[in-house]
Amino acid sequence: MENLIFEKSQPGRKGYQLPALDVPSIDPATVLPKASLRTRLAELPEVSELDVVRHYTRLSQLNFSIDTNFYPLGSCTMKYNPKVNEQIANLTGFKALHPLQPTSTVQGFLQVYYELERMLSEMCGMAEFTLQPSAGAHGELAGLLIARAYHKYKGNPRKTVILPDSAHGTNPASAMIAGYNVVTVKSDARGAVDLSSLKAALNQDTAVFMLTNPSTLGLFEKQVKEIAKMVHDVGALLYLDGANMNALVGLIRPGDMGFDIMHLNLHKTFSTPHGGGGPAAGPVGVSQALTPFLPVPRVRKTEQGYSLEETSPLSIGKMRAFNGNSLILLRAYTYIRCLGREGVRKNTEIAILNANYLRVKLQDAFQVAIDEPCMHECIFTAAKQKSKGVKTLDIAKRMLDYGYHPPTIYFPLIVEEAMMIEPTETESKQTLDQFIETMHVIAQEAQTDPEKLKHAPYTTPVRRLDEVKAAREPNLRWKPSSIIPTSSKAGVS
Ligand SMILES: *Cc1c(COP(=O)(O)O)cnc(C)c1O
Repeated sequence: MENLIFEKSQPGRKGYQLPALDVPSIDPATVLPKASLRTRLAELPEVSELDVVRHYTRLSQLNFSIDTNFYPLGSCTMKYNPKVNEQIANLTGFKALHPLQPTSTVQGFLQVYYELERMLSEMCGMAEFTLQPSAGAHGELAGLLIARAYHKYKGNPRKTVILPDSAHGTNPASAMIAGYNVVTVKSDARGAVDLSSLKAALNQDTAVFMLTNPSTLGLFEKQVKEIAKMVHDVGALLYLDGANMNALVGLIRPGDMGFDIMHLNLHKTFSTPHGGGGPAAGPVGVSQALTPFLPVPRVRKTEQGYSLEETSPLSIGKMRAFNGNSLILLRAYTYIRCLGREGVRKNTEIAILNANYLRVKLQDAFQVAIDEPCMHECIFTAAKQKSKGVKTLDIAKRMLDYGYHPPTIYFPLIVEEAMMIEPTETESKQTLDQFIETMHVIAQEAQTDPEKLKHAPYTTPVRRLDEVKAAREPNLRWKPSSIIPTSSKAGVS
């Protein structure tokens, strides 16, 4: 049982020691305006240092993390975040900067920005990148605002954004916020874009077609060149949702496939911290024709050093205060510099190899959604468990008992009972083999003791929650009543 820190408060208990005052004390009322004075004491918990350390250490252990266990959450690329990234981001020369410092005093950081932009542009085959957007979804919005500004400049902002029905939910949301109507096109049997539906949807009102490649089914969209031609023939732009770049980096470049705009999720592909709504980064790359519309400020390199170009006549303006989540960007920069050109490519190859290893080793236990080689992730379903009444949700919950974070489930929406597994390149063969063994045990349980799965998990701090209520009205107290009595715990090997 972990009480709130406020409930641990004991009057008079302290977690600090201060030396005796060596300057004269003054009454705050003589120096501060009345409105700034407290009428009663702040209600802070009175606790010792040890109380605080134990409380927060225990809370941190209730969390699932990539640093403790395998986290095969499809689409999200939960790869390990190397500690060297943290070391660099912790250097005082970077972390103690203020965003309003004169540029002459932040030349090192501006160099990092400049070089990261260049590296991403080269890797993706785009003319330029902005590092400003704070997440993938924010990048989508920036990209669509750039498209809007571009079309408006050409005389007509156009009306619609087209998406495949396999798109991530952020795509239609971003398009709506950017002021567009959303039109969805069907996918074919292997989850690829249905070209005749696309053709029927495209017209002079189309501003952008947003594509995810590899698709959200983890398969490479082989018709991408044809799609690019169709989109460009009506004067529209082709947008890449780059969340799945972990399957492409170093192997193939979006610019070469015909994409005009794209975003990256640095917290996925480039190993920066991810989750819990924490800081992220969603840089946006564009082709040459779109560079005048990028957000400001832009980092420029001149003979005198690096500078910030604060205004630009056609720019969409700012996407946020200042210039992006700088220390997240620095972590991605560190990651890329550590790996180098060869390392980045090798990681991609191993990510694809690992996913295909799981696909082949698990296909006897779980139905593979589309039976062909995958990219960096693979979708299974609970079709083989259906006759026992076991659903994907039950399998996912049972995995928690064995110490694995569940994969992404019920996404993409077009696959029934989807279970999307993405191992990433950072996991060893030993980890994957153990996971494969566990998944076979769970598949066995589904046949012999389906009831056990339907009530899993048994070992977690909380069991099955009303997920909507939990998200809207989070109750952060860990109550013993939410734990099942020991006697009814299922055996976990
Ligand atoms: C994660 C993801 C997004 C959204 O990115 P955030 O950084 O979470 O905002 C968009 N599309 C796809 C396919 C994704 O996997």
